[in-house]
Amino acid sequence: MNPIDDEDNADAEKTLQSEHEALLSFVYMSPVGIIRSDIAGRIDMMNPLAAQLLMPLVGEKGIENIFESLASVAPELRSFVQSFTAARGPVCENHRVFVTPAHERAIVLSCSIIKISNQLLMTVLTDISRQVAAERRARQTESWLAAIYTNVKDFAFFSLDAQGCAMSWNASVERVTGFSESETLGQTLAHFYSPGQFLPHRSPEHLAFARGQGWHVEECWCKTRDGTRYWGQILVAVSREDDGAFTGYTVVLRDITERKMTADNLKRLLTTDHLTGASSRAHFFDVAEAEIARVRRDGGTLSLVMLDADHFKQINDTAGHLAGDEVLKRIVVEAKQLLREQDVFARVGGEEFVLMLSGADAAHAAQIAERLRAAIEAARVVTDAGELRVTVSLGCVTLSESCATLRGLLDASDRALYEAKSAGRNCVR
Ligand code: GH3
Ligand code: MG
Ligand code: MG
Repeated sequence: MNPIDDEDNADAEKTLQSEHEALLSFVYMSPVGIIRSDIAGRIDMMNPLAAQLLMPLVGEKGIENIFESLASVAPELRSFVQSFTAARGPVCENHRVFVTPAHERAIVLSCSIIKISNQLLMTVLTDISRQVAAERRARQTESWLAAIYTNVKDFAFFSLDAQGCAMSWNASVERVTGFSESETLGQTLAHFYSPGQFLPHRSPEHLAFARGQGWHVEECWCKTRDGTRYWGQILVAVSREDDGAFTGYTVVLRDITERKMTADNLKRLLTTDHLTGASSRAHFFDVAEAEIARVRRDGGTLSLVMLDADHFKQINDTAGHLAGDEVLKRIVVEAKQLLREQDVFARVGGEEFVLMLSGADAAHAAQIAERLRAAIEAARVVTDAGELRVTVSLGCVTLSESCATLRGLLDASDRALYEAKSAGRNCVR
């Protein structure tokens, strides 16, 4: 051997040694458990993570044999190796070992065994508990969603991109709205609104509220593909990536027409007088208090007209109470015909009514009161007791510095009404 060969050998040995050290430190620091054993499972080397993963399984016994260590949770591993007849190759790959029962917080290992030679096995263990839990949650969510999609008939689910345009569609959208995938994708929420409801700012505003609070609900008239109107409840929730980055919106659109009708009926019951259909006394007080406060804050004008049927006792006495009721109903019919939607005409006593005219000054209120008086005087009320006539006396009052509360206005209109009575009835004061 010449000296040059000697030097080469020394170099090669050095390289081999440093590669060996690199391999060892890789095994040592590896984020998976690595175990070397003979074919019977007797361990001659393992890294710290392998020991950490096996320790809870072996208790006092210590970790000497890979099959025995895992026997309580994966007795099948030994027979996997025995039935693997090839000289080398993967005995099992990512075989799942449930260390604790399969519940939400289960500890699950993934086990791969590689046969290196007839005498050598390498086992790789990975803790996949988190992955398994995530899979479980995903499956759970998926089955909930599937149940919702198929069983909940009046919900539509879809998503909007960051610009507010529809980017997903599913059968629920068509079921509720009638719109197909191609008719939905790329559209904004405005696509679903009923034309009369559509205001250009409405859809962006809805999304802006959702961005601000995380979610937002709105109710409005919507339309289906064939033009049918329905009362829709639209919930918009902001969607984010795991790192919090904003990606768009999830929308739940619901047809709640029936619920709206029930709510409207209930509201009607609570706010109207059931004999005449005029507003109820309680509703009048609520609305008038709020409206007076608004006018005093924002400016404007407001008038009240108090109205009382003349000699009503006499009508009851001669024609009977039921005929009297018909007369009261007719007074309300005449008033409704004459008044605007926003005027509030309420029955506040037996044959006493009050009218709130927001925006009407004294002259305007007197004019309306006079028209109402004339219309009622002209009415011929057909009852079982024959055709009846009725007149009313009216007292008007307008919001002013000296008369700025509901109580004050009611007292003043009462006095004006009393004056009208004193002046011979069937007139306005
Ligand atoms: P005035 O012109 O001064 O107002 O005389 P009036 O007879 O109308 O006044 P009064 O207050 O003496 O009588 C009101 C009558 O209204 C007495 C009451 O029986 C009758 N009344 C109150 N509520 C109802 C009702 O719901 N139905 C009927 N039919 N009559 C009612
Ligand atoms: Mg009366
Ligand atoms: Mg009265």
